[in-house]
Amino acid sequence: MSTFKDLGLNPMILQALAEIGFEQPTPIQSKVIPHLINSDNDIVALAQTGTGKTAAFALPIIQQIDENEKHVQAVILSPTRELAIQIAKDISKYCKYLKGVSVTAVFGGERIDIQLRALKRGPQIVVGTPGRVNDLIRRKALKVDNIKWLVLDEADEMLNMGFKEELDAILVTMPPEKQVYLFSATMNSQIRRIASNYMTKPDDIKVEGADKATDNVQHFFYVVHEKDRYQALRRIADMNSDIHGIIFCRTRRETEQVAAQLISDKYSAEALHGEITQDKRTQAMNRFRQKKTQLLVATDVAARGIDVDKLSHVINYNLPESTEAYVHRSGRTGRAHNQGISIVLVNMRETYRIKHLEKKIGKTFERGKIPRGEDICEAQLFRLIDKICGTQVNEEQISKYTELIEKKFEDMDREQLIKKFVSVEFNRFLEHYQGAEDLNSNVNKPGGGGHQRRTNYRGRSSGGGGHHRRRHSGGGSGGHYRKRH
Ligand code: AMP
Repeated sequence: MSTFKDLGLNPMILQALAEIGFEQPTPIQSKVIPHLINSDNDIVALAQTGTGKTAAFALPIIQQIDENEKHVQAVILSPTRELAIQIAKDISKYCKYLKGVSVTAVFGGERIDIQLRALKRGPQIVVGTPGRVNDLIRRKALKVDNIKWLVLDEADEMLNMGFKEELDAILVTMPPEKQVYLFSATMNSQIRRIASNYMTKPDDIKVEGADKATDNVQHFFYVVHEKDRYQALRRIADMNSDIHGIIFCRTRRETEQVAAQLISDKYSAEALHGEITQDKRTQAMNRFRQKKTQLLVATDVAARGIDVDKLSHVINYNLPESTEAYVHRSGRTGRAHNQGISIVLVNMRETYRIKHLEKKIGKTFERGKIPRGEDICEAQLFRLIDKICGTQVNEEQISKYTELIEKKFEDMDREQLIKKFVSVEFNRFLEHYQGAEDLNSNVNKPGGGGHQRRTNYRGRSSGGGGHHRRRHSGGGSGGHYRKRH
């Protein structure tokens, strides 16, 4: 196993990486970094987001930047504003001890005069979206005649998002001697066209299994009736109350509908799609990143550039169009050595696609059972009790009320009191799941083990304190659990 030092990086960069907490290079970094330090060849690298590709191209570039030259030496193009900002932020962190190197991000949706001023300050690295970069080149505010490196990050996405013309316009204005690094999650004829028109005999770099899903993600699928798709989603969210994840939808409309429904059902959710203004998108992203929003309901395109580590779940409300898109979606969780869960909701007619996906991504999917109302109520009940047990009491503040509180409760015994406290929150779930159907039963073959029982849970709730905590496991009635609930 190589270290960052073995790859040829200088001590200032090594120091910054150690402070960030990168201990070992990822596979794409091990391949790309020495290549970019030691060779002048162009490269075409197949890499998903979440593999550490940003550091793979950024570290060799910052190492070779001439700190004394205050002109643009590297341009990095990215499909979205969010990704451009993220890349620029990452680069500033890597440059902590390279005081003479500076980076700026340029993108549409922000006042251009701010960006013009930033460019005047002489950054050596500019990260931007194709539209804005092209605009700034035409205005002669961004001078690219002397650049040494051009990075096309997520090239397939830039093309998917309709930036072909901007890319062509940018590429023709740049000096032919520059080195071009193209990164893409998928390979197709359009990418090959860029490589053959604008690159010089690029070396292909591919990490073994780059088109495979990461090992840190567990894949589950749930079979539901089309009409139950939303209810199934809701149950999965209720069963995993600490969820922090993205729900992928196919269309803007579906994204809006699912988000609106979740919000009206009192979930912490927001929609993110291309027709929401940049400002609103940034705000939504920030709320999500700060965990003020638990669920982001997004289209594939809008979710590009979402760089949030430690997402617990990715939920495919519908299957994506292609395997690559699935790998991309599921790769949003399980990043940077964390564990993640990717869930797919399918109807009966779509189940064959799971087999197909398994083969393509080289991973198996476990079939989950939609949690029953009863399982959810139980999980929520114990979660609430855990929360109560773990709550710190501020003795000083509460003491002045103790007498009054005791007086109010004087006619209640301990058991009654506990039940009432717990019911404050628990009733919401009891009400919703009272008489709830088992969503699995509809789709299981006759005699296939589905539960036909209907759950009326009200009776049990008044049944006293006889519950003891039960943990559900993968294939059990409760679907899967995160470690803590
Ligand atoms: P990227 O594929 O560049 O979007 O990176 C995905 C995530 O992995 C980012 O949050 C990086 O900060 C993180 N990361 C990149 N390289 C490493 C590394 N060598 N060790 C640990 N985390 C890393």
